[in-house]
Amino acid sequence: MSTVAIAGAGPVGLTAALVLARRGVDVVVLEQEPGLAAESRASTFHPPTLEMLRDLGVVDALLRKGLVAETFQYRERGGDAIATLNLEVLADDTAFPYRVQCEQSKLTPILLDALPDTAEVRFSHAVSDVSPRGPGVAVTTSRGIVHCDWLIGADGAHSAVRRSLGADFTGTTYPERFLVASVAEDLTAALPGIAPINYVFDPHEWLVLLRTPDHWRVLLPTPGDTPDDHELRRLPDRLTAVADLGRPWRLAHASLYRVHERVTSHFRDGRVLLMGDAAHVNNPLGGLGMNSGIHDAVRMATALAEVLAGAPVGVLDQAARTRRTVAVDHVQAASRANWARLHGHDDEYRRQLRELAADPVATRAYLRRACLMDSLETTA
Ligand SMILES: Cc1cc2nc3c(=O)[nH]c(=O)nc-3n(C[C@H](O)[C@H](O)[C@H](O)COP(=O)(O)OP(=O)(O)OC[C@H]3O[C@@H](n4cnc5c(N)ncnc54)[C@H](O)[C@@H]3O)c2cc1C
Repeated sequence: MSTVAIAGAGPVGLTAALVLARRGVDVVVLEQEPGLAAESRASTFHPPTLEMLRDLGVVDALLRKGLVAETFQYRERGGDAIATLNLEVLADDTAFPYRVQCEQSKLTPILLDALPDTAEVRFSHAVSDVSPRGPGVAVTTSRGIVHCDWLIGADGAHSAVRRSLGADFTGTTYPERFLVASVAEDLTAALPGIAPINYVFDPHEWLVLLRTPDHWRVLLPTPGDTPDDHELRRLPDRLTAVADLGRPWRLAHASLYRVHERVTSHFRDGRVLLMGDAAHVNNPLGGLGMNSGIHDAVRMATALAEVLAGAPVGVLDQAARTRRTVAVDHVQAASRANWARLHGHDDEYRRQLRELAADPVATRAYLRRACLMDSLETTA
C-alpha cells in the first residue's frame, strides 16, 4: 500500500487528505503547529467549492456554521449601490447558487473530523527538508524522518517543501498592505441596503465590507511603509469615515498584512506535488485563494489516487499543468483586475456593471468566471 505524506493541515492539505483517504490511500498529515489554525483569513466559499465539499460529504456541516449570501454588491463610497448581482442566475449551473460566508478556521475541524482511520494527522511535526529517496521521498520533520511514496506540499505561502526543492516563487508584492478589521457592529443598520459582500469604489480609499457569521469585516488598503501601531491607532477614525455611528466602532480584531502575487513554475516535481498557497498566492479580492487551493487539492489528489491505482503518471502531469494555468490565467488575473477596478474613477466600468446587473445572461457568464466555475473547464 502506498503512503502519501502531506505537509500542512490547512484547508488545502486536509482536503487532499480526505480525497486520498476516501479512495483507500494511506495518508499521513504533518502539521507544524500543535493544533489547527484559528486565525481569521478566508471567509467566502464559492459554488464549485461547495459542490466539491458536498462530494466529500462535509458541505452540510459547513452550511450549518456559515451564512448563505445570494447577492453581492458594487457600491460608491458614501453613496448608493452601483450594481447588485444575484447568484440565483446560476440555478441551472449548480446546486449551490450562492456563496457561503464562513471562516476557513470553521472548515478545517470539519475536514479533520471527516478523515477515516487510514489518515493520520501528526501535530507539532514541522517539515524542514525533503529529499528523493529511491522510489519515494524522505521528509525531515522536527520529530524525525518520515518516509513516503509521494509528498504533497500544502504548507502555505512560506512552504518549506517548496524551498527545500529549490523551486522558484516569482511574482510581485502589492504596493499597499491590507488591513482587516473584524467589528462587532451591525452594518446593515448603519449602511441600509448593503449586501452580505460589498466592493466599495473610491479613488482614494476603496474598501470591502464582508459579513461573516460572527462579525462584519472591513478590508482597507494601507500604505506599505508606515509603522503598524500608527495604522492601528488611526483605524477608529477610518472606520468612522466608513459610517459615523456617533461613537467609536466596537473592534473585535484587526490585522495588517502584505499581499503578494506569486507562482511556482511546476506544481509537480518528481514524487512531490505543490498546491494551494505553497504553489500560488494572490490578493484576497474576490475570495479566490482558498477556493482555488481547494480545487487544486481535489483535482491533483484525485489524479494522484488514479496514478496509485494504475493510471499513467501523465494523468498527474496534466492535472498539475492545468492547475498552474488556472492559478495564473484565472485566479491571479481576476484578483488583480478586482484590485485595479476598486481604485478607479472608471465611469465606463460603473456603466458596464449597471448593464450587467440588468442582463441575467451576461450576469450568469460573469458570475461563472468570478466564482471559478469556468476555470474548472480549463485544460492545459
Ligand atoms: C486576511 C486574509 C483573507 C483572505 N480571504 C480569503 C477569502 O475570502 N477567500 C479565499 O478564497 N481566500 C482568502 N485568503 C487566502 C486564504 O486564506 C489562503 O489561500 C488559504 O489559507 C490557503 O490554504 P492552504 O491550506 O494552502 O495554506 P494555509 O491555510 O496557510 O495552511 C498551511 C498549513 O501548513 C502549516 N505549515 C506551514 N509550514 C509548515 C511546515 N514547515 N511543516 C508543517 N506544516 C507547516 C501551517 O501551520 C498551516 O496549518 C485570505 C487570506 C488572508 C491572509
